[in-house]
Amino acid sequence: MLNIVLFGPPGAGKGTQSERLIEQYGLIHLSTGDVFRANIKGETELGQLAKSYMDKGQLVPDDVTINMLRSEVMKHENSAGFIFDGFPRTHAQALALDTFLATLNTEITSMLALEVEEEELKERLKKRAEVSGRVDDADPNVIQNRIQVYNNETAPVKSFYQAQNKYIAIDGIGSIDAITSRLFAAIDSL
Ligand code: AMP
Repeated sequence: MLNIVLFGPPGAGKGTQSERLIEQYGLIHLSTGDVFRANIKGETELGQLAKSYMDKGQLVPDDVTINMLRSEVMKHENSAGFIFDGFPRTHAQALALDTFLATLNTEITSMLALEVEEEELKERLKKRAEVSGRVDDADPNVIQNRIQVYNNETAPVKSFYQAQNKYIAIDGIGSIDAITSRLFAAIDSL
């Protein structure tokens, strides 16, 4: 299996690039943010809980997120692999993912990390807010909060994969096509 963690701050292009990677490599795209948003739309209990955190730019608690992720993976047991987009976002999630994948006799192949500086991220999120309809894109305070949560809680997850020699940095600046080519090249040389 090819299991990729697509990593990067909010607005780095994870969703856009995931779409291209799944097409090229026949993988399942698993975005925890998308699953939460679908639950909000479907007015489920999980959606209601997730919304109370998402609207403020905070992380949904680890236990809720990890359980949800596990059940999503189990829906696609026979796939060629996964793109994990927006997960893991904490050290506890990274540990839980390793343990869980081991029970399925597989593991993370690599973490591909899109690197984009903060000013560019804010510009991109402002533009995305005009089309995404996402509450958490529309408010500059919430955006700032998400970037802060990323820097404090999520960025350290990088060292978890560095310690396993699985971390690959990708320049996230440039055209969408140029960034896709960098990701393809990185995966093809694995
Ligand atoms: P995203 O679509 O990845 O930008 O995620 C949107 C929001 O969903 C985040 O700001 C969090 O509130 C929540 N979320 C998504 N993935 C996770 C995760 N792995 N852990 C905790 N919260 C998450």
